[in-house]
Amino acid sequence: MFGLRILLFFAGIALVVWILVRLARGPRPPQRPRVKSGDTVKCARCGVYVPREEALRDGERYYCSDKHRLEDQGGRQ
Ligand SMILES: [Zn+2]
Repeated sequence: MFGLRILLFFAGIALVVWILVRLARGPRPPQRPRVKSGDTVKCARCGVYVPREEALRDGERYYCSDKHRLEDQGGRQ
């Protein structure tokens, strides 16, 4: 029964390694994606999508940069 003993030996090592890996990782909260699709806004000037927190807001409009905000205001006047 040499083969069975070897098999049990490696199975035991695999189990110990698996437990150690689980303990080393620890409980980890599920990572939230940094930017969700709902958190992007469209630049009113060039139409590029930028994260809401990085966008410049002017009333109801959002812009990717201050340059585009000023250009769009200039175009409306
Ligand atoms: Zn833009």
